[in-house]
Amino acid sequence: MALFRKFANIYGKATGTFSGFSSELSSYTCKYYSGYSFDLNDAEKKLKENARKFVREEIIPVASHHDFTGEFPWDIVKKTHKNGLMNLHIPNEFGGLGMGVFDECLVAEEFAYGCSGIMAATQSSNFGQIPVIINGNDTQKKKYLGRLVEEPILTAFCVTEPGAGSDVNGVKTRAEKKGDEYIINGQKMWITNGGVANWYFLLARTHPDPKAPASKAFTAFIVERDTPGITPGRKEINMGQKASDTRGITFEDVRVPKENVLIGEGAGFKIAIEALDSSRPVVAAGAVGLAQRALDEATKYSLERNTFGLPIAAHQAVAFILADMAIAVQTARLAWQRSAWEVDQGRRNTLQASIAKAYAADIANKCATDAVQIFGAIGYSTKYPVEKLMRDAKIYQIYEGTAQIQRLIISRAILDLAKQK
Ligand SMILES: Cc1cc2nc3c(=O)[nH]c(=O)nc-3n(C[C@H](O)[C@H](O)[C@H](O)COP(=O)(O)OP(=O)(O)OC[C@H]3O[C@@H](n4cnc5c(N)ncnc54)[C@H](O)[C@@H]3O)c2cc1C
Repeated sequence: MALFRKFANIYGKATGTFSGFSSELSSYTCKYYSGYSFDLNDAEKKLKENARKFVREEIIPVASHHDFTGEFPWDIVKKTHKNGLMNLHIPNEFGGLGMGVFDECLVAEEFAYGCSGIMAATQSSNFGQIPVIINGNDTQKKKYLGRLVEEPILTAFCVTEPGAGSDVNGVKTRAEKKGDEYIINGQKMWITNGGVANWYFLLARTHPDPKAPASKAFTAFIVERDTPGITPGRKEINMGQKASDTRGITFEDVRVPKENVLIGEGAGFKIAIEALDSSRPVVAAGAVGLAQRALDEATKYSLERNTFGLPIAAHQAVAFILADMAIAVQTARLAWQRSAWEVDQGRRNTLQASIAKAYAADIANKCATDAVQIFGAIGYSTKYPVEKLMRDAKIYQIYEGTAQIQRLIISRAILDLAKQK
C-alpha cells in the first residue's frame, strides 16, 4: 500500500492525472486514459436496458411454455421486431439500424438470460443475413435485407448436411447452371429457423470436379423459401432450446436465378466461413447470458435455502461454487466483448471468436450444472428454471462449430504464429 501510494503521488505529480489520493484506496481516482474502456456508450446502455426490460416483461414469463410445448415464439418475434431488437446490423442505407456485432451481442446476452431457445429463434436469423450484409450487392441487399426491416420475418443459414457438419468441405448439395438459373438438389440438416424462415442463405457445390479445392468448389445463394421444390422436414425434438425451430430441408430441382449468387461462382466456402467470425461472438454472448442466469438463480436460492441452521450460502463449499461461476461469467463476457470488438474494427477475429465461443460454451455448461447442484433435488425438477438451463446449455458446445473444432482453430492459429517467429 505504501509503495502504491508513493508511486501514485510521484506519477500523479508528474502527469497531473491523479485527481485525489487519501488514505482510503476507494477515494483514489485516476483520469489517466489507457486506451481501454469497460464502459458502454450511451446508445449501448440504452439498447441493453431496453433488451433487459423486454426480456423481463415478454420472454421470461413465457419461456417455460415454449420449452414444454416447443411452440415457435412468433408472438415474441413480432414484438422483438417492433421493439427494434432484431436485425440490428442491417446498414442504415437499407433501412436498418447500422449497428455492430458488439451491439448484437449485448442483445443476445440479455435474450439468452431469459430463454436461449427464444434467443436462437429471434437472433439467429442474423446468421443468414451476415453473408448478404458482407458480400451482397446493392440489389440483393435492398431486396432481402429491406424485407427484413419491413416485416417480422426470419432467415436461416443452410450449410450443414446429414453427412457434413464439422467438415464443411463434405457438402454434397449441388447447384447446376442452366441458362440464367441454377438448379439445386440436395439435403440440408439441423437448420435453425428451417421451417419458419422467409429466405435462406445456402451453400452448394457448383464445381464439376468433385476433387476441386473448397476455395473453388462451392457457391453461396440466397434462396426464397417459397420456391417450388423446397420441403422442410418435421421439427426436430431436441434436448434443449425447444422454442427454436430446427429442421432438415430437401431441395429438389429448385430453380434459383443467377442474380441470387453472392459474389460469384466458387466464392461460397469463403463467404460461409467468414460469416462465422461475426456469428460466433453472438453465440458466445448467448452462452454468457445463460451462465449469468444460472449464477443469479443459484445465488438467490443459496440465500433462501437453509440446512444445518444456516442458509446454504454460508457453507463455504457452496459459496465457492458461486465464486467460480462468477469468475467464469465475467471472463467469458470479456472474451465475447473482445471478439466482437475486433470484428467491428474490421480486423480478422477468427482466433478471438473461437476462444470466446469455446470458453463461453464450456462455462455455460459448467454454470448450469453447478446451479442444479446448488438447488439439490428441486433443481432436477421443472419447478425451477435451472434444469432447463442445463438442457439448453449443451448445444452451445455443438452448433456454430463444436468445442473440438474451436480448439482446432485456436491451436492452428497459435502454432502458425509460433512458426512465423
Ligand atoms: C440445434 C441445432 C441447430 C443447428 N443450427 C444450424 C444452422 O442453423 N445451420 C447450419 O448450417 N447448421 C446448424 N447446425 C449444425 C451444427 O453446426 C453441426 O451439428 C455441427 O457443426 C457439428 O456437426 P455434426 O453434427 O455433423 O458433427 P460431426 O462433424 O460429425 O462431429 C461429431 C463429433 O466429432 C468431433 N469432430 C469432428 N471432426 C473433428 C476433428 N477434425 N477434430 C476433432 N474432433 C472432431 C466433433 O467435435 C463432434 O464431437 C445445428 C445443429 C443443431 C443440433
